[in-house]
Amino acid sequence: MAFRPGIFLRCARGCCPDCAEPLPSGWAGMLSVPPVCSGCGLSLRRGGGFFLGAMVWNYGLIAFGALPVLAVLHLCGLLGRAASVQAAVAAALLLPVALNGIAWRLWLGTYYGFLPEQLPSEGRRADD
Ligand SMILES: [Zn+2]
Repeated sequence: MAFRPGIFLRCARGCCPDCAEPLPSGWAGMLSVPPVCSGCGLSLRRGGGFFLGAMVWNYGLIAFGALPVLAVLHLCGLLGRAASVQAAVAAALLLPVALNGIAWRLWLGTYYGFLPEQLPSEGRRADD
């Protein structure tokens, strides 16, 4: 199992992992990923707990990306205690929604980067 960074980068740029069709951008693309690729018919939102990977990416981006920045700003004295807590609560409540589409793209890139044989172009049924 070799990771294919090209597939990951294709998804991170907002394209289908299989056919490279651009996924919706703007607000629609930021908030979610369509259930099916309009270019090749690949099911992007597979069943059976597939969404858990996107949740892990979402949690990781917030817990290891946004919240440490707030902690550093507080430790440097740029944010007071109350402002830090308010910003952390706002980040914990708002960022999961705002980062949903990005987390899905990163998850699709991770999944198909490690398992490219799961792509329809590699022989798997598109609706599976
Ligand atoms: Zn596609």
